[in-house]
Amino acid sequence: MIFRQLLEVETCTYSYLLGDEVSKEAILIDSVKKMTDQYIQLLNELDLTLKIVVDTHLHADHITGTGLLSKETGCTIYQGIPARSSGVSKTFQDNDLISAGEINLSAIYTPGHTDDSYCFLLNKVTPYLLFTGDTLLIRGTGRTDFQNGSSRQQYNSIFKKLLTLPESTKVFPGHDYNGMTMSTLKEERLFNPRLQVADCSEYEELMSSLKLTRPRFMDQAIPANLHCGQ
Ligand code: FE
Repeated sequence: MIFRQLLEVETCTYSYLLGDEVSKEAILIDSVKKMTDQYIQLLNELDLTLKIVVDTHLHADHITGTGLLSKETGCTIYQGIPARSSGVSKTFQDNDLISAGEINLSAIYTPGHTDDSYCFLLNKVTPYLLFTGDTLLIRGTGRTDFQNGSSRQQYNSIFKKLLTLPESTKVFPGHDYNGMTMSTLKEERLFNPRLQVADCSEYEELMSSLKLTRPRFMDQAIPANLHCGQ
């Protein structure tokens, strides 16, 4: 499988390109609109056909590339239920498969950061690869204070869903602001300060004590992303 982790530096956003070497079909997770030309060039260089673009959730910090990529390449835009954006061509829910060629991503509904947050699991070979969006970050978790976020739901998503996967599972987050590129579930269980809580109410307290500023591009990003960035 072709696998590329791509960084958009201004918002520290990671996008993930997965390509099937036989069928040459590709899926792009969490694209950023301003990187579209670079993605298309890379797809051409790797002789890949972009079949699917999908976001882990409706982003508040950057404009998604899904709409423009669909326009430019004809790829299908997938969005998880409750899918709210116009221009989406396919919706999915918990446990659904998102497939291109031999690549099969299982959608895991993980509300909490937002009420439309999903993680995607590639579990064909071990260790599994888990794309966690902003649900589980490296040594952190996504904020839960807007977009119908809920720290209670996020606790359940992380502890009752993600952490039931094998501990060797590799974690690829939606962002990292410290230059970390990947982790494992074992590492996060042990060293992620947000996961060192005794129970859900302790997690809720921890999350409500955070003093967070508004994302810089929120007022542009959310309205644009409700139209797939178009
Ligand atoms: Fe987010």
